[in-house]
Amino acid sequence: MNEDILHNLELIRNRIKYACQESGRNPNEVKLLLATKTVNTERIKIALENGQTLIAENKVQELKEKYDALKDIYHENHFIGHLQTNKIKEILKYDVTCIQSLDRLDLAEKLHQRLLTEHKTLEVLIQVNTSNEESKFGIEPDATIDLIKKISKFSTLQIKGLMTIGLFSAEKEQVRSCFKILKNLQQEIIRENISNVEMKELSMGMSGDLETAIEEGATIVRVGTGVFGARTYPDSHYWNEKTTDNRD
Ligand SMILES: *Cc1c(COP(=O)(O)O)cnc(C)c1O
Repeated sequence: MNEDILHNLELIRNRIKYACQESGRNPNEVKLLLATKTVNTERIKIALENGQTLIAENKVQELKEKYDALKDIYHENHFIGHLQTNKIKEILKYDVTCIQSLDRLDLAEKLHQRLLTEHKTLEVLIQVNTSNEESKFGIEPDATIDLIKKISKFSTLQIKGLMTIGLFSAEKEQVRSCFKILKNLQQEIIRENISNVEMKELSMGMSGDLETAIEEGATIVRVGTGVFGARTYPDSHYWNEKTTDNRD
């Protein structure tokens, strides 16, 4: 099973490289982030010991459980799950360098307050709901610029770009339209020239659709099953407001 991880990593790296070639992009522009929800630390270590440096969790509880076992291996940790305000204090204990799932003002405000107290700053991406599905977290595209303008006032938060979970669909062109929405929004925000806001990162694309995301400008692709294999929990456990049991 553990050899699978190395083999899968090789496949994913090649897919990224090939997609970059096809769209005339430099592969160095696209970071591979490993989504490690439900993956144990032994398996995560295999990836970290074989050249990967960027991982991300969806739940503070899992971040906490894995923290000690991974802290001595060089890596960077992002957060890609729905963050509840009552978990802010907790999440800041685990050296997360970027929260990719910032999607509402009250969360930004409370993060800012806590970061001020701790004399820290934090990179964030704004999560946008590009698939227009009620079940997905993220700010509506139409409301994104307004939210970013408000969040940009918080000196401890450094906005670095946008993140989205696209539509799950076998229809490649429907998936593509989600990524296009994110890219267009990025361009619009760049034109607004908001101070304290950078738009260099577009975090989009997962195991099933990373090629499309790269064609549309992704700078971070987030891959879980493509490297670690199928998960036992359904993804709705992590993504769907209605079925999330808030166990973290
Ligand atoms: C799990 C997860 C991924 C990775 O999905 P796979 O289909 O397993 O590659 C990407 N982004 C988010 C937010 C996730 O929760």
